[in-house]
Order: sequence, then C-alpha cells, then structure tokens
Amino acid sequence: AMSKIDLPALIDAVADTISEHADELTALDQAIGDGDHGLNMKRGFEAVRAESAALAGQPLPEVLRAIGTKLVMTVGGASGPLFGTLFMSIGKELPTEPSRADLAAALAKAISAVAARGKSQAGQKTMLDVLYPVQAAVAAGKSPGDVADVADGAAEATKPLKAIRGRASFLGDRSIGHVDPGARSSALIVRAVAKVME
Ligand code: ADP
Ligand code: MG
Ligand code: MG
Repeated sequence: AMSKIDLPALIDAVADTISEHADELTALDQAIGDGDHGLNMKRGFEAVRAESAALAGQPLPEVLRAIGTKLVMTVGGASGPLFGTLFMSIGKELPTEPSRADLAAALAKAISAVAARGKSQAGQKTMLDVLYPVQAAVAAGKSPGDVADVADGAAEATKPLKAIRGRASFLGDRSIGHVDPGARSSALIVRAVAKVME
C-alpha cells in the first residue's frame, strides 16, 4: 500500500532524476522557452531533498503538502506554482493510508486544480498532457511501470502539438516539433515515483 512508501527514498529518487536530467530539461526549454526549466526544477527538488529528514516522520498527506509549498517557494517561473499546486492538492485530498482508488481520485482533483491555476486544458502542450493520461492509467489499475511508460509516451506526444499556454505559446507554429519541458519533467517525476512504488 502507499502508506508503506519509503518517503526519503521517494524524495531522493525524484530529486536524483530531476538533477540528472537538468541539462536535458534546460535544452528543451531553450528550444521553446527561456531555458530555465532544468535549473528551476533542480533548485526546487534539491530544496525538497534538504527537508527530507524533517519530513520523514510525518504522515504522507502532510509531506506532500510541505513538498508543494516548498516547490512554490523555490522553483519559480510558471511551473513552480503549478507543480506546487499539484503536490499540495494531492496532499490535501489523500487520506493518511490511501488505496489506489484514493490516489486516482486525489490525482484527478489535483490535476483539475493545476488546470484551474494555469487556465489551461489538455492538448495545449503543457505538463497537463502528461498528467491527465497518468491519472487515467492509475485509475485503470495499470502497474507503476506501465504508468511510467504512459507518462513517457505522453511527454513525447507533445512534440507535434502547438503550444497554447505558457512561454512556448509566444512562438506559435514554431513551438511545433519540440517536446514540452514541463511535460518531460512530469514524466521524469512519474517514473521516479513509480520505481519506488513497484
Ligand atoms: P517559465 O516558462 O516561466 O520559464 P518553466 O520554464 O519552469 O517556467 O516551466 C515551463 C513549463 O511550465 C512548460 O513547459 C509547461 O509545461 C508549463 N506551463 C507553463 N504555463 C502553463 C499553464 N498555463 N498551464 C499548464 N502548464 C504550464
Ligand atoms: Mg522557462
Ligand atoms: Mg522562466
């Protein structure tokens, strides 16, 4: 069950993958944004990692809320408040010992909160294009590894899309042909979480 999750391991796994892929995320953001996404995300998740020991003894929902708050304070840009909202909302919705159905329900509400905050929806070449299919895969009972594969595929599938939200939208048709940075970072987070949950 999710309550058995090793929280420090989970935080390390996410911070590791974000830091390892920071250059890749930056390159994606250089193509269709301002080139700071790798640094933004690395700063945020390393700040979360620094709190890991203090968070370890707390219940899962509180930890997720604290992670969200930390991300809002440290990531910056457009993505900081959005990833912050995602984690804070999951924390707000999850019971202390969640089932898979609880997780699917919490994800659905949290993704709606992100969409409301970003005034965005699916198909606009953002992190939402990964988050919605991930929620559907969790709700459908897919294994963690399969959910991670769904996330990777969904991030890759942002390539042919034209950006309608965020900085990339300033490029119009020139945003076509590049993977969205926030979609890629979302997929990296999902795979790291999935590995710990397997
Ligand atoms: P900034 O664009 O302010 O430099 P980042 O580079 O950190 O911020 O993050 C950019 C990512 O944020 C995009 O790739 C996209 O996935 C996501 N994003 C930006 N605006 C929105 C929005 N309105 N709704 C959903 N996601 C968004
Ligand atoms: Mg940027
Ligand atoms: Mg920026």
